[in-house]
Amino acid sequence: MGKITGFMEFQRQEEGYLPPATRLKNYAEFVIPLTNEQAKVQGARCMDCGIPFCNNGCPVNNIIPDWNDLVYRGNYREALDTLHSTNNFPEFTGRICPAPCEAACTLGISEDPVGIKSIEHKIIDEGWEHGWVVPQPAARQTGKKVAVVGSGPAGLAAAQQLARAGHAVTVFEKSDRIGGLLRYGIPDFKMEKSHIDRRIEQMKAEGVVFRTSVLIGKDFPANVNNWAKETIFPEDLEKEFDAVVLAGGAEQPRDLPVPGRELKGVHFAMDFLPQQNKVNAGDKVKDQIKAAGKHVVVIGGGDTGSDCVGTSNRQGAASVTQFELMPMPPEQENKPLVWPYWPTKLRTSSSHDEGCERDWAVATKRLEGKGGKLEKLVACRVEWKDGKMVEVPNSEFEMKADLVFLAMGFVSPVASILDAFGVDKDGRGNAKATTDGEGCYKTSAAKVFAAGDVRRGQSLVVWAIREGRQCARAVDEFLMGSSELPR
Ligand SMILES: Cc1cc2nc3c(=O)[nH]c(=O)nc-3n(C[C@H](O)[C@H](O)[C@H](O)COP(=O)(O)OP(=O)(O)OC[C@H]3O[C@@H](n4cnc5c(N)ncnc54)[C@H](O)[C@@H]3O)c2cc1C
Ligand code: SF4
Repeated sequence: MGKITGFMEFQRQEEGYLPPATRLKNYAEFVIPLTNEQAKVQGARCMDCGIPFCNNGCPVNNIIPDWNDLVYRGNYREALDTLHSTNNFPEFTGRICPAPCEAACTLGISEDPVGIKSIEHKIIDEGWEHGWVVPQPAARQTGKKVAVVGSGPAGLAAAQQLARAGHAVTVFEKSDRIGGLLRYGIPDFKMEKSHIDRRIEQMKAEGVVFRTSVLIGKDFPANVNNWAKETIFPEDLEKEFDAVVLAGGAEQPRDLPVPGRELKGVHFAMDFLPQQNKVNAGDKVKDQIKAAGKHVVVIGGGDTGSDCVGTSNRQGAASVTQFELMPMPPEQENKPLVWPYWPTKLRTSSSHDEGCERDWAVATKRLEGKGGKLEKLVACRVEWKDGKMVEVPNSEFEMKADLVFLAMGFVSPVASILDAFGVDKDGRGNAKATTDGEGCYKTSAAKVFAAGDVRRGQSLVVWAIREGRQCARAVDEFLMGSSELPR
């Protein structure tokens, strides 16, 4: 423990943000990381709890008290090794993780929690800056071949762990670039894509082969992005590889079956967001959906909706409104009741701060327009009684809308892909596999494993990394009889 009285002396120090007027001019990241001095002070606030709840609250079980202490002492090199021992990609989580570790921090019971995420961000930035993040190729090859289907955080974590265990790993991705939702869901202003590119280079040097624009499967639904130029059937993949990891995410979007859904101007969030990421990467996008000068309504109050808000504002929308079906949560959680768990409370993202009207307990009844083009949205207020949603009498209202983005989450993975592999599904349509005990991460299909959103349903980057790592160990055990990869 760095400074014994640190938690009493120092306040939480937040990372800085560029002002909205500056950051709205482009799609670049705008968070100003802590300086070395600020990070030292933040590290000094950690109490090195006998039972570090932060470590348990973190899905990858980051060894937080140890690296807090190392940062306090200015030993970034060792802090990086400790951080990498549990997390392959801290530059992703240090930027976009909602930080369940901080909700679990013991200091948070009475004070502001330790700024764990900002310290993680600082450690990995120092690591890259000093050239400490280098390829770690396996000392020897096993001769076994593993195919990873999907290149989001789950697929990448699994691929890196398996390559480091000496297996020949090929990652197949139906998009034209690697990264999954890190690349084509999450906007650049939350995480610039150069962070993914650096990791891909590291992984290539560790022996991982990447094949983009290749769909593994057979049929694919029209309402999910697929830019593949080549298709490989599951049975052909299984012939060539000793094990297959399915890490294709939960891509089937939740639709809004109301009259007028077919009007021009109504889009899934994942039609809109990837286009801007592509444009930022220098691609030409034909008929790009653009919010410039338009009245935008985002339906859905989560992360995806918030990303539509930030992107619409950057494109120059005339107005942006976001509706959520559930009632507005409390501004502050009841700490003694919920700690150390993730609390339900009002969350205002940096995108909301940039300009957005938000409204809760609103249900869309229909969309209306002329000549096939969206013009307005008709909604009503709702109440929740005994778990059931009821319309508030005489509460119907309408608002001008040129664009509506549907950001109501994802129902499941694409069923036809799981079917093509003959993988059993759970009650929610996810690939069925347990996460501990013998046979964990293994699906009902021979030599086929599953990790990340495809197994757990839509979730978080940090959970995808955890599952990718744990799945890699399960595959290694399956191939070799035992494994030295971390659990
Ligand atoms: C807009 C948006 C914003 C988000 N923001 C955050 C955030 O700020 N913080 C956070 O923690 N989480 C966030 N999330 C959630 C997070 O991105 C996901 O939980 C995470 O990326 C899941 O990782 P994954 O590897 O399981 O799948 P994905 O990231 O979905 O990657 C799956 C990949 O597999 C490919 N694929 C699928 N099927 C096939 C196939 N048959 N053949 C070949 N390739 C295939 C897909 O093209 C995709 O690239 C966000 C999600 C969205 C949609
Ligand atoms: S719970 Fe908070 S104070 Fe305790 S060890 Fe973790 S970060 Fe430090």
